[in-house]
Amino acid sequence: MINVACPIIGERERRLVNDVLNSRILASGKYVSQFEQSFAEYCGAKFGIANANGTTSLHTALLMFGIKPGDKVITTPFTFIATANSVLFCGAKPIFADIDPKTFNIDSIKLEETLKKEKNVKAVIIAHLYGLTCNMDAILKLKKKYKFKLIEDACQAHGAEFKNKKAGSFGNASAFSFYATKNMMTGEGGIVLTNDAKADKYGRQIINHGREGHSTHTVLGYNFRLTNLAAAIGVAQLGQLESWIEKRIANAKKYNEAFKDLEFLQTPYVPENCRHVFHQYTVRVSSKERESFMKRLADKGVGSGIYYPCVIYKQPLYKKLGYKSGLCKEAEKAAMEVVSLPVHPSLLAAEVDEIIKVVKSYKK
Ligand SMILES: *Cc1c(COP(=O)(O)O)cnc(C)c1O
Repeated sequence: MINVACPIIGERERRLVNDVLNSRILASGKYVSQFEQSFAEYCGAKFGIANANGTTSLHTALLMFGIKPGDKVITTPFTFIATANSVLFCGAKPIFADIDPKTFNIDSIKLEETLKKEKNVKAVIIAHLYGLTCNMDAILKLKKKYKFKLIEDACQAHGAEFKNKKAGSFGNASAFSFYATKNMMTGEGGIVLTNDAKADKYGRQIINHGREGHSTHTVLGYNFRLTNLAAAIGVAQLGQLESWIEKRIANAKKYNEAFKDLEFLQTPYVPENCRHVFHQYTVRVSSKERESFMKRLADKGVGSGIYYPCVIYKQPLYKKLGYKSGLCKEAEKAAMEVVSLPVHPSLLAAEVDEIIKVVKSYKK
C-alpha cells in the first residue's frame, strides 16, 4: 500500500535525540530555544514559542490576544476541528464563514458579510488549508477596516507563501503543528509565532503555568511546553524542510500534468502569487463517485484520505451547541467531494507513476 502520509526520519534526527538523551536534559533545554529561534526566522517572524502541539498553539495564540468568554471569533468550517475548538477553550463563540470553492480557504467576501452582520468580532482565525495560503491582501484589508485580531492556523502550511511572504508572518500570531504527518514533524509538537514582544512574554507564561520567575504565578497558565527531545527532532527536520517541499511541489506538478484532461476529477487550483506546499494534494470528484474512486485506489494499493468529511458545525459536539446544517454551502459541498492523494516526499518516482496510472484507469 502506498500511504497517504509517511514521516521521514534521518541520521541527524537520531544524532540530536541521542545528544539530548546523553545530556539528560529532556524537558526544556537548548534545542527548544534553538528550534524556536530558527523556525521563527525561517518564517520571517520575530518570536517563536514552542508548544506541546498545534492545538495548544492555537489556544495559546488566542489567549495571548485576550480572547475571553463571550467574545466572537470568526473562522472557517472546513478545517480540522481543533481550529474551532480553540475558540471554545477560551469560552468564546466560533462563528463560521464559508469557503471559496476554488481554494478551499475562507472566502474574504463571505468573511466581510459575516463581520458586518455580527459586529464586534474580536478575532478571526484563518487556516491555510492543504498548504495553500489564504488571500492575504483581502484579509489584511478587512483586518484594517474591522480591527479584529488575526490568528493564522498554519498547521498545514510550513513554508507556504503569499507574494513571497511566508505563512505565519501575517497575523497578530500564528500556530503551527509538528504532528507526525505534517510537512515537518516532532512526533507531537507545535509553535506560536508573533512579532509582538508583549504577547510573546505573555505567551511564554501561558505555556508554563503562568510563571513569572521560578515560583511566582501571576496568570492562569497551562503546561503546554515542548520537550527538548521533540525540539531536537524539529531542528533536524527544519534543515530538510525546503528540499521536502520542493519534492511535494514536483510530485503535484506531475499529477497536474497527468490529470489535466480527466473529466471526472478536478486538480488543485493555485493562485499565481502563492507557493502551495502541498501538505495535501486534494482533488474533487463528484460526491456520487467518491466512494467508488477511493475503493478503486485502495484495491490497486493506493492510499487516499478525506480532509474533511464533515464541516465542523455539523459535528455532534457543535450540533449540541446549537449550530444548524446548511450554514456554509460551499464548505458542505467540498466535504462531499474532496479526496487527497499521496504527495509526500518519500514517494519513489515509480510510485508517483503508479498512482497516476491507477487514477487515470478509473473510468476505463
Ligand atoms: C494538524 C492540525 C491542527 C492541530 O494540530 P495538532 O498538532 O494535531 O494538535 C490544527 N489545525 C489544522 C488545520 C491542522 O491540520
